[in-house]
Amino acid sequence: EKSPTADPVLHDLPEATLKELDRIEKMFELDAAYLRRIVDQFVADFRKGLSKYGEPMAMIPTYVSGVPDGSETGTFLALDLGGTNLRVCEVTLQGNHKFSLRQQKYKVSTELKTGEAKALFDYMADSVDHFLTDRAVDAENEETLHLGFTFSFPVEQSALDKGLLLTWTKGFSAKNAVGNDVVGLLQDAFDRKHLHVKCTALVNDTVGTLMSRAYLSGSCLLGAIFGTGTNGAYVEDVNEIKKLSPEIRKELGDHVTKMIINGEWGAFDNARKVLPVTMFDNKLDRESINPRFQLFEKFISGMYQGEICRNLLLYLVDNGYLFNGYSTAQLNSHYGLDTSVMDAIHAANMNSSSQSIQTRKVLIEQMGFQPNQVSDEDTEIVLWACRTVATRAARLSACAVAAVMEQTKNVGNALDVGVDGSMVQFYPGFEDRLRAALRDLVGGDAEKKVTIGMAKDGSGVGAALGALMAKKQADGKAQ
Ligand code: BGC
Ligand code: MG
Repeated sequence: EKSPTADPVLHDLPEATLKELDRIEKMFELDAAYLRRIVDQFVADFRKGLSKYGEPMAMIPTYVSGVPDGSETGTFLALDLGGTNLRVCEVTLQGNHKFSLRQQKYKVSTELKTGEAKALFDYMADSVDHFLTDRAVDAENEETLHLGFTFSFPVEQSALDKGLLLTWTKGFSAKNAVGNDVVGLLQDAFDRKHLHVKCTALVNDTVGTLMSRAYLSGSCLLGAIFGTGTNGAYVEDVNEIKKLSPEIRKELGDHVTKMIINGEWGAFDNARKVLPVTMFDNKLDRESINPRFQLFEKFISGMYQGEICRNLLLYLVDNGYLFNGYSTAQLNSHYGLDTSVMDAIHAANMNSSSQSIQTRKVLIEQMGFQPNQVSDEDTEIVLWACRTVATRAARLSACAVAAVMEQTKNVGNALDVGVDGSMVQFYPGFEDRLRAALRDLVGGDAEKKVTIGMAKDGSGVGAALGALMAKKQADGKAQ
């Protein structure tokens, strides 16, 4: 059995095609020296973001000053607006690193993503209402329920339950939200519906991932999302967060020495200093709804992998290397090649003949090709393209992880990284490739000491932990 990370074997292709593929592959290649330059820039940008507000790498203080240890208990509502799904959950933290959860998913249409924010937030409130109507327990109980809100977009927080939306990402553009307090927008929507629900905590999904991983395993340094979008949150020394004003430091008190930072690393290198931007990336960026923003995210996250691959395939078609010049309506449409198609192609990655059969099947069934339009050479080139794009994504993802290890001076220490998202969950070989690049960066001994674990239901559990933290803060003040 051949591992999905094995080098592609390209045979039976015309000399000219091999030469062209080779030329393109070089543009996607990231050797150890190149990775090093990227990490150095990453750490420099971390430090900039920690010292000043308004930097592209936002390094947002979350006002969460500790991570859970797994002993936490309580039942809370959680609302999770991610890149793809809206979920409402009821989470019971049982202590002893265990939890139970009941959840319901709701679809978020393109109209809601791109319309008026009020409609989007009303929809979220309706979803919570629907979830509560289904709820067997205490339906009549008028007691106010506390809800933690996992909101997977950049928010400049000023407290655990307050924060202004800096910008939308991942295809959202709802009007009249940027610059507003998202907890306020949500609470107004609850109040309009007379729901007995109070949003007490706002957490980014990466912060949720970090907290839920810590709850499950007892400790965690970094929570990272490699999904529709990408981002990481990690535990930083308060002394390193130079941009906190003396007033804020005073209010935090001397006993607060650590704080979780939401890095918003999707915006790394928007200035295009180091990332290996190819013509396929340029096309993707200029045709996106947020050109010049979220550059790093556009290299590595699930929303864009398929599109980079589509651009690459179309280039090969246009230049006479692929499908004998044919294409399909699907291949020609914007975002017409979903990243899940790449997953499907890689899924049967066993030996070259079954790879070829699977790729052919996907091209016919999911991309609209006629059987006679797909040759063995074509399947080989398509496989190569998916692999080339995905390998670059995984290696760049390692740069972000290494940068956090270096920033926190943890290279060589045993540490825990909690991860979530479609790329880690579904993309074959993603973690293996990420680890290979991490070895290039920090060495094999340090890489071995990094435990990477899925934070299952991280957003829900993280929101519940946020709501619990809010309750503790409120109880503390009331005393
Ligand atoms: C957002 C982050 C989020 C990440 C993963 C990015 O587009 O800016 O806030 O954590 O996606 O969902
Ligand atoms: Mg999510």
